[in-house]
Amino acid sequence: MSLSKTKEYVIQFLAESIGIPNELEHIYEDIPDDIIEQISVGLTGNDIETEEFDYDSAPEVDEFIIWAQEIYEELCRDNNIPAIWKSRWPNGNKFAVALTHDSDSIEVTKEHLQEVKERFDEKDLEEGLSKKKNLYWNVERIKEIENKFAFKSSFYFLTSEYNVSKYKDILNQLNKEGWEIGLHAGFETHDSEDKMNQDIDEFKRQLGIQPIGVREHYLQFDYHNTFNFLEKNHFVYDTSLGFREHPGFLLGTSLPFNPPNENWEKRNILELPLIIMDTSLWGYMKLDEDEGMKLIENYILNIRKFGGLLTLLWHQEAFLMKKGNIYPKILERLSKEECFVSSGIAIAEWWNARSDVTISVKEDSEKGWKCTIKNVVKGICIEMKNFDMTKEVSINGKGRIINKSEADGEIYYMIELEGDCELFYG
Ligand SMILES: [Zn+2]
Repeated sequence: MSLSKTKEYVIQFLAESIGIPNELEHIYEDIPDDIIEQISVGLTGNDIETEEFDYDSAPEVDEFIIWAQEIYEELCRDNNIPAIWKSRWPNGNKFAVALTHDSDSIEVTKEHLQEVKERFDEKDLEEGLSKKKNLYWNVERIKEIENKFAFKSSFYFLTSEYNVSKYKDILNQLNKEGWEIGLHAGFETHDSEDKMNQDIDEFKRQLGIQPIGVREHYLQFDYHNTFNFLEKNHFVYDTSLGFREHPGFLLGTSLPFNPPNENWEKRNILELPLIIMDTSLWGYMKLDEDEGMKLIENYILNIRKFGGLLTLLWHQEAFLMKKGNIYPKILERLSKEECFVSSGIAIAEWWNARSDVTISVKEDSEKGWKCTIKNVVKGICIEMKNFDMTKEVSINGKGRIINKSEADGEIYYMIELEGDCELFYG
């Protein structure tokens, strides 16, 4: 059976998002065309509805991933074998959060500060006006608060608009400590390859490092062209595809994925869909602080339900502004969840390493069923559902069961791996 390129792409997307054994992709060959269509339209951002905002909007593509997972489990139950898949996030965490900070400006004039003085509290304003404190440079302040929770984040600099080279040493040091220093690509870079190359050169000239993560200023994006420019410059990921006017799932998914090129071939670059931007809440939606916090809470719960990735954009320059200063509260809230919180690049590297882990299921003459897991990365867990209560799972290699529960005639296992290993069932 010959599949269309689009169908092949979508099947691979579903299989990889769930993390099922590599040779089992074919179980999705019978997915109806209209579902393939909905997923492919979603992932290319062609279903954009920016006018309406629904607080409870669900990621449609992620709903299909759950549906595809159910198909897999049913098939395994019918064949009397366990269902097994790669856990989505490191150490069995339930969901992930990418903390990101665009930096639209790094300083302003006294006159400008006077014009926007109502944005700041009195003490900060005074110190800002007397130049004791730069209210628009909060990198160290942000680092300090993130450090309290052992979180890391990404900073993207718009080096086409200002010169950040006087902070070069600070930023290089941050980079060494695990924060990411990436590119905030300026106007026109999304549809001009020359402008993109200029921006990258300028970034390298100022900071002496090659950017590998990017967000486009004003979230301007031309789906195929921008990805082409970024791939040519070896970016590991982009995180520009989100709504400006309100939070939400522009691509129908919150998960990282390799977007397709014009021929529906999987690209090397990853997209981390942008879900919440601070300025949407205050500038476009005119929410107050409590409403903003409530909306963020809703998204945390929604993304947790889907095991997704909450990519949050909190502007660097807004950290001391009223409303902007709820950032520590958000971190405090996240610290109470079983979630993996890190920079864009750490999330992207995790996702790529997880994709490289292979699971292979074979019939075994003695035990009936054998699963071989290779290319194991630190933190990877394997989840498993066993539908035959009389049979047990055994591990050959460096792995241990960290969670086991029984319900409705199923036994669920979470197995943490420290190296390649084999699982048996019998
Ligand atoms: Zn920007």
